[in-house]
Amino acid sequence: MMDGFAYLPGSEAEKPGPLARYLPQATDGIAAAFLAQQFRPGDWVLDPFGASPRTDLEMARLGFKVLVAVDNPVTRFLLETAAKPFTQADLQAALAELSSARKGDERLETHLQSLYLTECSQCHQQVPAEAFIWDRESGALTGRMYHCACGDNGEYPATPADLARAASMTATDSLHRSRALERVTSAGDPDRPHVEEALKCYLPRAVYALITIINKLDGFSPSSEHRNALFALTLTACDEANVLWPLPAERPRPKQLTVPTRFLEKNVWRALESGVETWAGGEQAVEVVNWPNDPGDAGGLCLFNGPMRELAPHLNDVPLKAVVSVLPRPNQAFWTLSTLWAGWLWGREVAATFKSALHRLRYDWNWHAGALEAALKNFSDRLTLNAPFFAILPEPETSFLSAALLAGAESGFDLTGLAVRSRHDPVEVLWQRRAFSLAEKEQVKIDSETVRSAMLSTLKERGEPVTILQLHGAGLVAMAADNSLRGKTEALAQINATILDVLTGPGFIHHGESKNPETGLWGLEKWDPETESLPDRVEVSVVRSLNKSPGESMRALETSINAEFPGLLTPSLGLLRAVLASYAVESNGQLQLRQEDLPSSRRADLESVAEALTILGTQLGFSLERKESPYRLILWQDKRKTAYAFYLVASAIAGKIMRQNPYQPERSILVIPGGRAGLLAYKLERDPDLRRLAEHWRVVKFRALRRLTGSADLSREQFEKEIAGDPIEAPEQMKLF
Ligand SMILES: [Zn+2]
Repeated sequence: MMDGFAYLPGSEAEKPGPLARYLPQATDGIAAAFLAQQFRPGDWVLDPFGASPRTDLEMARLGFKVLVAVDNPVTRFLLETAAKPFTQADLQAALAELSSARKGDERLETHLQSLYLTECSQCHQQVPAEAFIWDRESGALTGRMYHCACGDNGEYPATPADLARAASMTATDSLHRSRALERVTSAGDPDRPHVEEALKCYLPRAVYALITIINKLDGFSPSSEHRNALFALTLTACDEANVLWPLPAERPRPKQLTVPTRFLEKNVWRALESGVETWAGGEQAVEVVNWPNDPGDAGGLCLFNGPMRELAPHLNDVPLKAVVSVLPRPNQAFWTLSTLWAGWLWGREVAATFKSALHRLRYDWNWHAGALEAALKNFSDRLTLNAPFFAILPEPETSFLSAALLAGAESGFDLTGLAVRSRHDPVEVLWQRRAFSLAEKEQVKIDSETVRSAMLSTLKERGEPVTILQLHGAGLVAMAADNSLRGKTEALAQINATILDVLTGPGFIHHGESKNPETGLWGLEKWDPETESLPDRVEVSVVRSLNKSPGESMRALETSINAEFPGLLTPSLGLLRAVLASYAVESNGQLQLRQEDLPSSRRADLESVAEALTILGTQLGFSLERKESPYRLILWQDKRKTAYAFYLVASAIAGKIMRQNPYQPERSILVIPGGRAGLLAYKLERDPDLRRLAEHWRVVKFRALRRLTGSADLSREQFEKEIAGDPIEAPEQMKLF
């Protein structure tokens, strides 16, 4: 059932867009590639979660009618504004109008900037800080960052004046904080404590600045052309102003409302200004309508304002051709903050529609599997049998994979494809509605022997150690196939435990710095000597493809290689790039085999190297033996013992040679073209088993041998020295691709 599901490649977003740190890191182009395979513009596509606005927009821009169930008001706003993107001029005009609004006898901008004033340590002028730095444990303001007009900028310790200013904000905090609270919940609301808790993500100055801005927004009539643009900028400010910004600044992707040990308190006015860049531009506008309207023949978004279970009863009215969705991960931070922001911007009624997100402070994978299942089972029986469900799982990890596949199986979908590329790429899942109702297929108990053999055979096919994701995937596929991937949420623990038990049992080996099974690589205790590793097979395929169809684009090559190595075999982009760096040149997006790697050049090369070895060996007084099969091999014998075994290869395919080599590794030498050294280094870096195998081998480049034939007075000792000093070089050229 599962053969041949090829991973669809995408590309990383050029510009992440608003609130990107909470949104799935979905790769652009994957959904489009899926739809292009079998559907036509104008077809209806359902996204039951609406978790990734980019992905919905991508499909709409291709001309599909994308029905999205979206219950988070913030996500809904993101979808609407992405469909009708702001111009930079819109945003700047809106910001200018806001900045000149009055606060007392000041301009709003002046007033808000004054909250952050600090003294420049060089010129002693007052400048608005970019941010202050706080320490969570002590609760103290410890530092400040600013850019002064005098040219001074950077990070400095906080001054007594900075502390006094912050303290004055704290003195009036309760008033502003209760206003911020009022906009989200009423006094008797049982959810009020949750909102209070969430508000702790904001320091007093941020609460004051945001509430001041939001009060001003109330003065803009809904027909004002600047209102929406200001909502957008304010949303950015709402996020920039919270304390979920650790220092040093890694790229935070908060999933919980956890205060970092050192964090930034950013200048709210600066945050508004930075929003202009974030929200401006975007791509081509698309039609966006509310359910039950039709976006029209050119495609577009049809937004259903509510959860999937409320949309489901109406689905029979829509000729759905496919379901395509980025599956959400649990994100307490985003869901909770969305409730706050929705209340602030659009009021209590709007916040109330999404308030259930507040009830839970910790989301575990059991809960998530249940939530996914609840959403999926709403529509599984409303799809036609040939309407596929294609799901993209960003930031994959084993529990997410288990939760998603369990939810799919439990809600009436058969798994027909699972493609895993690397930890850093989304996983792709293909389901088909099950033809028989769930009850008719009896649930089977998990058979760990079946799981084990599926995981072993995946490893044998890969021929190299892999991350736990591929093996976990193999286990889940086996369970889906025999109908044991079932049960309510408590099943999740059992599914994961079974896979882990198998993995830590006989046959498998963990290569990793820590004992954590999620990290490092998993390999076989013993590899078959006939093993051809995935990197070696991919190398052969890429070269064949470059030879057969010169001028191909990277994307076309990636697509054809993924089709040849589907599902759990999908090669990483890093591997493809390493092979291309070794063999190909690119110009104007077209890939060509390097001149010296054309088959005829390489045959001539190998012959001349064989000749060089023959001359050298004779010169040094060895007796020679030459073999052509199964490997091109030249032996230098001394007193009937093998002094050197030279393997002549034009590729970086060495694993099988090393596994089958009957000579001492210390006497074995791989002779390769210089251009292969980087690729070989990459493979050794990637595969700890290959690295161990190669430990005592030496690698000599073609040109080094040819050079040695020129020196007439070479001694055996000198030769030994020469070939010892040719380390395998790091794959520098890879940067080119
Ligand atoms: Zn200065």
